[in-house]
Amino acid sequence: AYVITEPCIGTKDTACVDVCPVDCIHPRKDEGDYDATQMLFIHPDECIDCGACVPACPVEAIFAMDEVPDQWKAYIEKNAEHYQK
Ligand code: SF4
Repeated sequence: AYVITEPCIGTKDTACVDVCPVDCIHPRKDEGDYDATQMLFIHPDECIDCGACVPACPVEAIFAMDEVPDQWKAYIEKNAEHYQK
């Protein structure tokens, strides 16, 4: 799965949401828990590893799970946690 990291916070461009073929990036602007000051998360089980969201992101916040930079590794768990609520 791909993982969204720190640069998304406060940016939340949502270009990735528009290109994701399986709609596994949330919360979308039309969803109740959307908060512009927060970030987006990729569902780790629904992501099909297509990579389409990576070039769509204007702040390079998205990485393949095994390529997440060390300082942002905590975001692997943060993405998963978003879907455990
Ligand atoms: Fe969606 Fe593809 Fe990005 Fe996974 S890699 S979140 S399936 S656009």
